[in-house]
Amino acid sequence: MFNRWYIVAVALLPFVVLLAGCSQGTRPEPTDTLHVTVSIVPQKYFVERIGGQHVTVSVMVQPGASPETYEPKPEQLRALSEADAYVSIGLPFEKAWLDRIASTNPNMLMVDTTRGLERMPMGVHHHHGEEERPPEGETENPDPHIWLSPELVKVQAQTIYEALVRLDAAHKETYQANLDSFMADIDALDADICQTLARVENRKFMVFHPAWGYFARDYGLEMISIEVGGQEPSAAELAALISEAREEGIRVIFAQPELSTRTAETVAREIGGEVLLVSPLAPDWLDNLRQVAETFAEVLSE
Ligand SMILES: [Zn+2]
Repeated sequence: MFNRWYIVAVALLPFVVLLAGCSQGTRPEPTDTLHVTVSIVPQKYFVERIGGQHVTVSVMVQPGASPETYEPKPEQLRALSEADAYVSIGLPFEKAWLDRIASTNPNMLMVDTTRGLERMPMGVHHHHGEEERPPEGETENPDPHIWLSPELVKVQAQTIYEALVRLDAAHKETYQANLDSFMADIDALDADICQTLARVENRKFMVFHPAWGYFARDYGLEMISIEVGGQEPSAAELAALISEAREEGIRVIFAQPELSTRTAETVAREIGGEVLLVSPLAPDWLDNLRQVAETFAEVLSE
């Protein structure tokens, strides 16, 4: 008797375990969070600051890669079928790909964080001896580096907050509290950067890729870019840049880890200076901007 019941019980055991597994509805599933895809790494920071534990963020342009040369991979486009929102920021690659990205998933909310902010044209600064190059194409050529201006990031944060509330109104209060805390951190960062750069005497800096135009505008600096309209400079343009660097007493050329430093090295060698790397795409956006301001201040005070 005992033996027979024992056998039945053992035989049923897997089904009992299976049933228990099915009825465990309270276990938090990863699908409980909003799946948000962004174009670049700093946007992941923005969405996570506001979404907190309620979001899972994927990034299209992987760390170390350059948005300027990026194209979405097929598996990245396929993964968008799981996304609740795509947060764009007005990068050149988006111009070519955003329609494709949107069409991968009709249920995905498309969030444009250039909304409500004014972008300046790319390449306002002209070096002496440089020919005027009209912007390519018929449309305007806005500077896409809007994530490097704390003031403009506040506008982007507001847009991201509104999108999260639209997708998940149940957590509105959390998103609002997170937004308030992020906004307060941005204000504190802005005040710190103003203070850090106030003591700087030389206001001009030279950089390979012109990512810091809004930052320079916001804090009264002047950016001189080695790249001309997104291209390597011609020999004549390079010569003009080198003499400009000499005239301005520039000792440091800023470059970034995501791009070639070859031309920056060339200019640095010619002026007897050095190349310093600062990344516009670091994951801890807040800390990175504070550190970049410190680096600029040190270099420009020398
Ligand atoms: Zn760039």
